[in-house]
Amino acid sequence: MEHFSYKDNNLLVEDASVASIAEKYGTPCFIYSKAALEQNYQAYEKAFEGHSHLICYAVKANSNLAVLNVLSKLGAGFDIVSGGELDRVIAAGGDPKKVTFSGLGKTTQEIYKALDTGIHCFNIESEAELLRINEIAVNNSQVAPISIRVNPDVNAETHPYISTGLKENKFGISMGKAIELYLHATEMKGICIKGLDFHIGSQLTSIRPILDALDRILTLNEQLISRDVIIEHINIGGGLGVTYENEMPPTPIELVSAVKEKLHGIDLKIVVEPGRSIAANAGILVTKVEYLKNNEEKNFAIIDGAMNDLIRPALYGAWQKIVPVKKAAGNENTTYDIVGPICESADALGKNRSLNINAGDLLAIKSAGAYGFVMSSNYNTRPRAPEIMISGSETHLVRERETVSDLFQNEYLLPG
Ligand SMILES: *Cc1c(COP(=O)(O)O)cnc(C)c1O
Repeated sequence: MEHFSYKDNNLLVEDASVASIAEKYGTPCFIYSKAALEQNYQAYEKAFEGHSHLICYAVKANSNLAVLNVLSKLGAGFDIVSGGELDRVIAAGGDPKKVTFSGLGKTTQEIYKALDTGIHCFNIESEAELLRINEIAVNNSQVAPISIRVNPDVNAETHPYISTGLKENKFGISMGKAIELYLHATEMKGICIKGLDFHIGSQLTSIRPILDALDRILTLNEQLISRDVIIEHINIGGGLGVTYENEMPPTPIELVSAVKEKLHGIDLKIVVEPGRSIAANAGILVTKVEYLKNNEEKNFAIIDGAMNDLIRPALYGAWQKIVPVKKAAGNENTTYDIVGPICESADALGKNRSLNINAGDLLAIKSAGAYGFVMSSNYNTRPRAPEIMISGSETHLVRERETVSDLFQNEYLLPG
């Protein structure tokens, strides 16, 4: 089902008018569709039917409490990369027993907290981290469930900033070293070996690299079995891509079917950590055109949203579709660079977009539900945008717009 559609030339999110929401809450603002989030999550659930599994939504993609709450009500687990994200999961009603803890810099404090809440698994990124977790667990008479993140050295064929499965990346442990580390782990009193994991990158538009990684990981599993190291689950990470422009990423069912087929006859629970493929196309960023401007070379639409609200275009050269909230009559399009007010040339949310617009019009930047608000900043002392969730025709404010005084309330003048 399409959750973002036009009715009488006016953009709707589910049954709610984007123009009315913008009028009530101002711009820029993020708007999410609850039904889209649910549908994207359920696609994974359906794909796994009949196979033991755990879907751990990657909190970093969109960590708003309402988003986490909607997913936790569907039974989701969560993949976290910080202690703060664990607090968010708990505050949103999520089950810590379904939490996987990824990330290569877990602090002592974060490890304590995760052990105390009884998470499902620590995804280990280095020998030093394993030693630290063991030590903390032993000191507390606890046992930490772990999986080792293996770097399968496959090319995810995605943007280098979001590719993580090559030898040269900082993530994971090489295939060669993994066996040794598992054997070492078997001797640690505070460690219980649960699984094997990998995550090779994001915005993958083919399942080939994931399947290649899985082949290598299954070979590693056989080597572990021959040394009496028995795991319960395999975690294939996240990374499934979405359609921003005209990409044709595989669906969860295509991915999961192929993974199940490879596991044929091997009794292992499958864990996945999807973020983008659940949240990206469940959200938009709505912004207003402040001014139109043209210099000799180009036309610009200067908007009230900027790279501090949505950094993907500036950071990765990412392309996101930009559409008018109210479609104008006629067909007199002009080509614009859609730029924000920030003093950086990189501050464009779209380039060379053909639109029929005037100052004062609203634009919707699509696919902004993942890596949107969460990567926003206050650069240029810009309060962060509010987040609104739509369910049918109901509109729920799920995060208020920051105020300027919020931004400097923790700053102090020198005395005197
Ligand atoms: C970011 C991340 C994910 C989620 O990636 P998506 O591309 O958003 O699905 C999953 N697992 C780990 C370890 C990550 O770092």
